[in-house]
Amino acid sequence: EDDGTEMASIQIFIQEEPECQNLSQNPGPPSEASPNNSHSPLKPRNYQLELALPAKKGKNTVICAPTGCGKTFVSLLICEHHLKNFPHGQKGKVVFFANQIPVYEQQATVFSRYFERFGYNVAGISGATADNVSVQHIIENNDIVILTPQILVNSLNNGAIPSLSVFTLMIFDECHNTSKHHPYNQIMFRYLDHKLGGSPDPLPQVIGLTASVGVGDAKTVEEAMLHICKLCAALDASVIATVRDNVEELEQVVYKPQKISRKVESRASNTFKCIISQLMREAERLAKNVSEELGKFFQIQNREFGTQKYEQWIVAVHKACTVFQMPDKDEESRICKALFLYTSHLRKYNDALIISEDAQMKDALNYLKAFFHDVREAAFDETEQDLTRRFEEKLEELENVSRDPSNENPKLRDLYLILQEEYHLKPETKTILFVKTRALVDALKKWIEENPALSFLKPGILTGRGRTNQATGMTLPAQKCVLEAFRANADNNILIATSVADEGIDIAQCNLVILYEYVGNVIKMIQTRGRGRARDSKCFLLTSSADVIEKEKANMVKEKIMNESILRLQTWDEVKFQKTVHRIQLDEKLLRDSQHKPQPVPDRENKKLLCGKCKTFACYTADIRVVEKSHYTVLGDAFKERFVCKPHPKPKIYDSFEKKAKIFCAKQNCSHDWGIFVRYKTFEIPVIKIESFVVEDIESGVQNRHSKWKDFHFERKQFNPEEMST
Ligand SMILES: [Zn+2]
Repeated sequence: EDDGTEMASIQIFIQEEPECQNLSQNPGPPSEASPNNSHSPLKPRNYQLELALPAKKGKNTVICAPTGCGKTFVSLLICEHHLKNFPHGQKGKVVFFANQIPVYEQQATVFSRYFERFGYNVAGISGATADNVSVQHIIENNDIVILTPQILVNSLNNGAIPSLSVFTLMIFDECHNTSKHHPYNQIMFRYLDHKLGGSPDPLPQVIGLTASVGVGDAKTVEEAMLHICKLCAALDASVIATVRDNVEELEQVVYKPQKISRKVESRASNTFKCIISQLMREAERLAKNVSEELGKFFQIQNREFGTQKYEQWIVAVHKACTVFQMPDKDEESRICKALFLYTSHLRKYNDALIISEDAQMKDALNYLKAFFHDVREAAFDETEQDLTRRFEEKLEELENVSRDPSNENPKLRDLYLILQEEYHLKPETKTILFVKTRALVDALKKWIEENPALSFLKPGILTGRGRTNQATGMTLPAQKCVLEAFRANADNNILIATSVADEGIDIAQCNLVILYEYVGNVIKMIQTRGRGRARDSKCFLLTSSADVIEKEKANMVKEKIMNESILRLQTWDEVKFQKTVHRIQLDEKLLRDSQHKPQPVPDRENKKLLCGKCKTFACYTADIRVVEKSHYTVLGDAFKERFVCKPHPKPKIYDSFEKKAKIFCAKQNCSHDWGIFVRYKTFEIPVIKIESFVVEDIESGVQNRHSKWKDFHFERKQFNPEEMST
């Protein structure tokens, strides 16, 4: 949600649809899609039986096997065995955790289809809050529950679920995430406190699934072994299951694509970058002159335009400027607003340079033109007029540079050649193209669509649901639609994706993976490679950076170290392994208990909320009410004077809210986005987002910013309809 709400709640219940009854009519569990098991009931492969064996014996197991080998099916086998083998009169209860919504969706469908014929009840809950349903009720009434892990963490924290003893089996998908403060680890902290505390209640069996346990920062096999032991300790695992007896069979199913690194050249000269850099230097100089005190930020010399580092720096300056204070409030307002505008413009220029580096200059220029168009449509004060004029003075030159064929991006030329060649050899090729940023996804899609020589490509887009800087992520139905189309061989034959799309989503039968200026850690690499499922698949790494190619080589070394470490650990006898794991668990618990932090105490002092852009007073925290746990409104007629409404471009209904309009700061020349206006039951109320405001302590005058409501510890009062009628 981008509008004044923290993560709207999502609940999905898995209905058993009649058309799903016969697995043979469907591709089956997506991980198993392959010619020899398309008939129901599915026949497990030998290596799948091998992987399931320790878990069937009741051991806590980390199952480590390549992406695409059917780990989901292995977990179905374990789950089936577990539920069927309970002594008469007793019942098992399984929970399956999935981190990401698309994965959650896939698993929920697979489990429903598989277990309906045995008469087991399967249900799922996802989303940050489960307002309208009782999690407890769903867990009580179902044999298998699919959850995103935060739901269980919340339910354990608020007492709705008293203990993990309600479950008899817990399965963690992508279990290498069980570290630090990840919800997986928070669940396992409960488990381990329970176990090490000597509680008599039984604990569930624990199964972890992963393509790669990772090695952390390990440089040697010994260090990597310790890293893996720590993961096993976190999951209380006593066995690491890998395929050892049926390697040949596995290799026939999971084909490792040929990996090709290709160094490409950047443009030799770059007039576009020179002009934009000049505009950025000017904007920085103007910003520096606004205020003597804040000018110091802009004196630091060693920043490079067009880098992710510059982005981080400018965001930090932007934040620092919004909480700047002066005795003269009008002056403060003027300075804050001017710096807000300069830093916003600098960010856009920086984005444009990143786009032009990996895509076409034209794309970068269009991105800026769209931004300046929006600026004109909004408040358009003196500072903005000045900045716009400076841009427009250069516009013609920028247009000319962008149109000049000699400025074509040589990287795109290489990409074009690879695509041409592969589709010529194999017209039914299916490609996934990974890029760094959301803006690049759009730029490359346009480049393909506008290039007649690439008319054989039908591009689709896949990005995460996350709330990023400007572009909002893809919604769940949209993601599903794209994945379905890609799978069904229908609309798309190339999918352009950002990194968020690369963990665990099952996209069958893609035979060309292109990593375009893209690099990740070892876990990422193995999973990305797993995408190239089909035979004769290839994986290209395209980069202008020698460092990236080096890093990729380093990742391959890490993978070797990891495999060697697992082999060595598997030679240990079980007692030795369990002792090591137990020792680590005790040490970690000691550390955890000593660091235990008390819950933040809500600050009862009344505070002021000021507009985050112009610093005009907006409301007091005492007038704020919480609606449905995660939405924040403001009472009183006085507040209604301080904002203006504009019709929402995408009105929609979610939960009990009907989104009707966006609200903006009413102060002339400000128009800062404050949130949305909604219909809630019979009320029409504003819903504000805290990131749009600066919080000022009334007595001390100290100002703070919070990007999320949950980080702002003030005394929360619940929305009460009776207050509205008075
Ligand atoms: Zn304002």
